Amino acid sequence: MHAVAPGGFRPGAPSGPAKGSPGHPCFDDAARSTSGRVHLPVAPACNIACGYCDRRSDCPNECRPGVASRLLSPREAEAALADALARDPRIRVAGVAGPGDPMAMPEAVVETFARIKARFPWLIGCLSTNGLGLPEHVDALARAGVSHVTVTVNAVRPEVGARIYDAVRWQGRELSGQEGAGFLLERQRRGIAACRARGLTVKVNTVLAPGVNDAHVEDVAREAARLGADRMNLIGLIPVPGTRLGDLPAPCPGVLAALRGRCARHLPQMRHCARCRADAAGLLDEAGCC
Ligand code: SF4
Repeated sequence: MHAVAPGGFRPGAPSGPAKGSPGHPCFDDAARSTSGRVHLPVAPACNIACGYCDRRSDCPNECRPGVASRLLSPREAEAALADALARDPRIRVAGVAGPGDPMAMPEAVVETFARIKARFPWLIGCLSTNGLGLPEHVDALARAGVSHVTVTVNAVRPEVGARIYDAVRWQGRELSGQEGAGFLLERQRRGIAACRARGLTVKVNTVLAPGVNDAHVEDVAREAARLGADRMNLIGLIPVPGTRLGDLPAPCPGVLAALRGRCARHLPQMRHCARCRADAAGLLDEAGCC
């Protein structure tokens, strides 16, 4: 008999929708073919440098996080959302996921969500962030209608994080190595705890980089569960040529499945992530959604 993990999750039990998440295709597996999402690309800047990231792309056929063909102001995002809803009334989620980090420009992001809440109050507000700038803005985000937050946590030990993050920029300082990774991790911990204290649903995304953090992702799951996260999304690295980690292989599906199984001892796992662009729109299950 397995112990019951934080949040009442019983390892091995089927994972239904995270609490308060029916209709969100990334938190409720059953909704992925019935409920759509729109990502509004209002956040071009970023406050950290990941060794796998390259945001210099506007190819509409390139499908990976951090990619967007255009940038929008909050007002333009509201208009784009209205257009998207007119085209596809199945859209239930309005999200901001970059193409940089939303919390590197919190004012624009909070304004975007406030506009969405005022005009489309039935939509689920969803934010995806690296967590560095999250703790101070949790209240403002919640007031603006955000109910679901994803924090990308690739490591919970500074020595592992130092192999992933090249720089962490905070209040005019640039931190690197274990100092930068440790600082980011502490901010992520505070941000996740603040979200849960505010009643927001939290998912942790972890990019699986072979040879870098593959032996460590179960530690991430354990720590995320301790902090109260609701689910985890283990994402295989997409090697991007020209980036520091661009020569690593993408993890094979069998390895990814096995590691998800180990992480599932601690947190329910998302297993259908489409690794969406920062301007994706539509159903996850539909070809060309991203
Ligand atoms: S990238 Fe994954 S978690 Fe994010 S919206 Fe797409 S399917 Fe959901």
